[in-house]
Amino acid sequence: MFIDVAKIKVKAGDGGDGAVSFYREKYVAAGGPDGGDGGRGGNIVFQVDTNLSTLADFRYKRKYAASNGENGSGKRCSGRGAQDLIIRVPQGTLVRDLESGRLLADLSTDEPQIIARGGKGGWGNSHFATPTRQTPRFSKPGHPGEAFELQLELKLLADVGLVGFPNVGKSTLISVVSEAKPNIANYHFTTLTPVLGVVFMGEGQSFVMADIPGLIEGAGEGAGLGHQFLRHVERCRLLVHMVDISGSEGRDPKEDFETINRELKKFNDELSQRPMLVVGNKCDLATDEQIEDFQKFVEEQGYDFFPIMAAIRHDVDPLLKRIQEKLSQLPPVVRFEPDPVPVVEMDPAQAGAVTIHNEDGIFVVEGEWLLQLLRSINFDDYESLQYFQRVLINSGVIDALREAGASEGDTVSMYDLEFDFVE
Ligand code: GDP
Ligand code: MG
Repeated sequence: MFIDVAKIKVKAGDGGDGAVSFYREKYVAAGGPDGGDGGRGGNIVFQVDTNLSTLADFRYKRKYAASNGENGSGKRCSGRGAQDLIIRVPQGTLVRDLESGRLLADLSTDEPQIIARGGKGGWGNSHFATPTRQTPRFSKPGHPGEAFELQLELKLLADVGLVGFPNVGKSTLISVVSEAKPNIANYHFTTLTPVLGVVFMGEGQSFVMADIPGLIEGAGEGAGLGHQFLRHVERCRLLVHMVDISGSEGRDPKEDFETINRELKKFNDELSQRPMLVVGNKCDLATDEQIEDFQKFVEEQGYDFFPIMAAIRHDVDPLLKRIQEKLSQLPPVVRFEPDPVPVVEMDPAQAGAVTIHNEDGIFVVEGEWLLQLLRSINFDDYESLQYFQRVLINSGVIDALREAGASEGDTVSMYDLEFDFVE
């Protein structure tokens, strides 16, 4: 079955916890702290697999979790980082965050894409030893890995999209010009899966043609079968619009031509501007007048017209030549840019909601809100740092520290960040 949308849940691995441990050896009185750091959690990585052509696998498996990092241990042993979890998808898969609709990645190249990042490992106590603090009895927990609910959508990558009513001969054409073997039958909707075929033009030249299942009236509004397939036309650089020029099924090719164009426009206005060639098929069943009449009709609208007989590959070569010529003048297949990471809007009700506890004279500040804030700050940048300080003051964190007993010179610890308290 052809499946081109799916929803899955992914969770990157959590970082391992840092260890609290002290060096021990017979006759050595006070060994130093030697607790190692936790290991990194595994990322969730997406990768194109050209053997896949649908998202069907995701109907059966919907939850994906990468492993957590190992905890640190004594003797300064860092926990092992976890392996990334690789999720394989067909080429042309778009990955969105379901909640925000944000595009995270367009899997159209070989390059693997990290979709959810594993959490960093927490620091072991050996990290916290300073000349004045020789026996830190605390370590840090690992950071949580990112988790998303994802919307996957396949938008095929093809140079040329074949569009037209059912039964006009689209599958027949792709089968005579490429290795693709779609189902061909004399009834509507035989094609339920878009089929990609590579058309070789000699001397290492080729292009990819997609046989898009028959579009029908109302497809642009989601009626009937067509709509779900229209997304696969969106990336095509060139459309080849095919009609049954003989009207062999009591249809009017002119009406059909206009109907399909309307559907394309309804789905995506930009599609109606896409370069298009027009093909009249089944010329063996048509009279010369029928062919000339239709040819005049489309040429007046500025389209190039090609009368063919797909079934016996008659006059197909001039069409392929023109396709190749057109493609050489057109920009490459559209690849979508991921949406920028939005600025995290702090929930004002949550701001300043932190817990403070005193560990060996160090004021440890924690809170979901704070973690979010820290992630959004670039500490190498002076202005960001100033902003961070202002937020700490305005949200009441500094007052809370004071209330908890912090005074000038005390160490304040916020996740990866440590600083001296300044009145
Ligand atoms: P699609 O639905 O557009 O993919 O159409 P198909 O390729 O499945 O073809 C529909 C029917 O038209 C099949 O029975 C084909 O054999 C027939 N057909 C295709 N090309 C020609 C042609 O050039 N002449 C005639 N007479 N029939 C054709
Ligand atoms: Mg077909």
